[in-house]
Amino acid sequence: SQVGCTLNCTFCHTGTQALVRNLTAAEIVAQVQVARDDLEEWPSPKEDRRLSNIVFMGMGEPLYNLDNVADAIDIISDGEGIAISRRRITVSTSGVVPELEALGNRTQAMLAISLHATNDALRDVLVPLNKKYPIEQLMAGIRAYPGLSNARRVTFEYVMLKGVNDSPAEALALVKLMKGVPAKINLIPFNPWPGTDYVCSDWGAIEKFAAILNRAGFASPIRTPRGRDILAACGQLKSESEKVRASARRKAAAEPEVLDSPAA
Ligand code: SF4
Repeated sequence: SQVGCTLNCTFCHTGTQALVRNLTAAEIVAQVQVARDDLEEWPSPKEDRRLSNIVFMGMGEPLYNLDNVADAIDIISDGEGIAISRRRITVSTSGVVPELEALGNRTQAMLAISLHATNDALRDVLVPLNKKYPIEQLMAGIRAYPGLSNARRVTFEYVMLKGVNDSPAEALALVKLMKGVPAKINLIPFNPWPGTDYVCSDWGAIEKFAAILNRAGFASPIRTPRGRDILAACGQLKSESEKVRASARRKAAAEPEVLDSPAA
């Protein structure tokens, strides 16, 4: 939904890429079409679709571009066109609480929350937006999300960081936080990137964490990392091209090209 991101979550390589701009609705839909093209899904098959679910996630904050996201979802879900059900479209946010209600009302999309911590002190570090919308406010906004029910559960994303947020005590705190919320929790093994100090939790710690959530009745799948080998897994989507400031572009354009002087 955006090129780059303004939010600087500390475990996220993508977040080190400065915001360039919001995508238009057409550009968002074009990503779906490019994927369908690659899968040769023309025209839209009625059954056995390979592109069956869409998640707004990976780069940027969709709720900072809600108008275009909502328009794109209208187009993607239109029964006369691509016809992917709104129940198969999930929007993931780092917790822009004031926009949650509008997201639900305008899109009827499924909601996912980048949570990653169970207390404000830690979430302030991992997801700095938490300083603006702390966990209590966030949970209140989630409980009020339009259409939330056992059939339409919210997904919490929780990146597993060794020695940071992966203790059994934190799993229990998570259970407490989720009480009464129709929820499932995706445990995401951390994908390392150059320059980060974070390390992925040991597999045993992740399994222990998941078992505590499962025992409390929450589905908590451990996501299989995909794309690590090309730095394209979750939180690794920073691109190699960087935004060049408009002032720098103007300066470069104004400077006369310096030609090597011919040898004397
Ligand atoms: S996790 Fe999402 S919101 Fe946070 S910095 Fe990365 S891309 Fe931005």
